[in-house]
Amino acid sequence: MGKKLTKKNLVLDGVAVSPGIAIGLAFLLHHDELQVEEEEILPDQVASEVEKFKRAVQQTKEELRSIRRRVSRDMGEEQARIFDVQLLMLDDVMAFDETISAIQDRKRNAEFLFWENLNTAIAAIEASDHAFFRERAADIKDLGRRVLHNLLGIKHLTISGIRSEVVVVSPDLSPTDTIMMHRKNILGFATDMGGRTSHAAIMARSLEIPSVVGLRDATSRVEHGETIILDGNKGTLVIAPDEKLLEHYRAEQRKYLQWSSDLAALRDLPAHTLDHQAIQLHANIEFPDETDSALSHGATGIGLYRTEFLYLSRTDLPGEEEQFKAYKSVAEKMIPNPVTIRTFDLGGDKFSMYLKGYTEANPFLGQRAIRLCLQHPDIFKVQLAAILRASAAGNMKIIFPMISGIEQLRQAKEILGSVQEDLRARGVPIDPDIPVGVMIEIPSAVLVADSLAREVDFFSIGTNDLIQYTLAVDRGNEQVAELFDAFHPAVLKLIKQVVEAGQRAQIPVAICGEMCAEPMATVLLLGLGFDEFSMSSVSIPQIKKIIRSVNMEEARAVALHAIELETGRQIKAYLKEQIGNLHPDFLTADMT
Ligand code: PEP
Ligand code: MG
Repeated sequence: MGKKLTKKNLVLDGVAVSPGIAIGLAFLLHHDELQVEEEEILPDQVASEVEKFKRAVQQTKEELRSIRRRVSRDMGEEQARIFDVQLLMLDDVMAFDETISAIQDRKRNAEFLFWENLNTAIAAIEASDHAFFRERAADIKDLGRRVLHNLLGIKHLTISGIRSEVVVVSPDLSPTDTIMMHRKNILGFATDMGGRTSHAAIMARSLEIPSVVGLRDATSRVEHGETIILDGNKGTLVIAPDEKLLEHYRAEQRKYLQWSSDLAALRDLPAHTLDHQAIQLHANIEFPDETDSALSHGATGIGLYRTEFLYLSRTDLPGEEEQFKAYKSVAEKMIPNPVTIRTFDLGGDKFSMYLKGYTEANPFLGQRAIRLCLQHPDIFKVQLAAILRASAAGNMKIIFPMISGIEQLRQAKEILGSVQEDLRARGVPIDPDIPVGVMIEIPSAVLVADSLAREVDFFSIGTNDLIQYTLAVDRGNEQVAELFDAFHPAVLKLIKQVVEAGQRAQIPVAICGEMCAEPMATVLLLGLGFDEFSMSSVSIPQIKKIIRSVNMEEARAVALHAIELETGRQIKAYLKEQIGNLHPDFLTADMT
């Protein structure tokens, strides 16, 4: 690895996605291509060369099994399953037999032949028509490097292998990578790519790991092992800080920790406005074990349980029983509070290893969420049965993602009805009146919200996708991150329309996208009429503090004014000014 030209105190700007300040050594997950020399071996060295290769593969398997055990212990069995996939790949696609035959036939060193065979296999995979296979090429490369490092006796750098405290710097992270993050050792993460509402960023927030994405060229500027400062509040990364800057950030870090522990004191206080309007602050979760964090941050319900994460890290389908147990555990822990469970939202940036084989040029516009479930009623029915059975154990609601019109809703409800019927006929206990809602996250759903409202019990607005689809801005693309504007007047007008449709039909309208975790948006959303917000647990105390410092009349006046402004910039400036009057300490860089 060549020495990089780093400058003292070099500051890179990115997108702040998870708050907090991390100061530590950089763990660079950027792999330089390894150079492997071709060497001839003598006929009597063939057996030992084959042995050496088999040992390296065996060693790789043991490493993976040990990481799997560690992840299972620290993060749960669901997250550990990703390694079953890797172990399977080691057996199936690692050019194992080909390499042994090549050593015997061509009499060259194992590492050279393995690398050659592997690169041929990877080239074929990368040329595949199937997006699923193309996406797996990165995993296969990663596994191949692991084997090669063992052959060469070099230490391999992967997230799962991190044992000391570091700040991870990497080109990109998939939601699956993020699942593997070990909270204890990862102080923060910084990526070249990504946007604020990409699912990896959402996971980082759930794990409460300070994070900055969209830094563009961080991996080519940061040196593995050098000291860096990651500011997840402002969205910056400082490379090679001098002592003075380090001191400054240590003080900022102390201030931030003090600030969040002061906020934690609000946990048991009710979220109501000064004039006693009660607001529900719910948590978004991806895994059942996040329920504890939701409760410890003062959530009064789960407003969005993203069940598809159960699928992401495995090659098989979670069966009804397994899903039932996961859903029931969340419902029971939250009793008497509600749990809104979303049916699978696979596709987009969340690919299941099981549902493979789709070729999609634009996955966010493709076979995603309810579309995929309606195409695979067998999978959908299993999930619905698990949810319905779990509904007997708590206070549950079902929500369908990515509904674009009434027909889709009717189809989904019909399948739900048939599963309800079947369970009832078999005498299985379920909640017969489980409320059914839709995510409003596509502009077409906003425009037909009156029809949808007549056939559901509630709405929840998913602003992450609503912004993406309204403004035609990919939520995970750092190149257009600045255009991803929650305060664009068009977005606010759509949100207002949904609230009004809900009021006309007298059904509740919640909001569960990342926008409702933005301090700048709170007064506006209150004023627009929301009384249920759902967000990453970590954001709840801060939003509660704001809610407790406004009255509804003020909030309505702010919303009325904001919605009439012409640009996102004006709206933000106005909201910033309003909140600045209430609480100057809320003016973080997030709000600039
Ligand atoms: C949204 O789109 O705003 C949402 C909450 O769902 P997700 O982020 O999982 O797409
Ligand atoms: Mg969404």
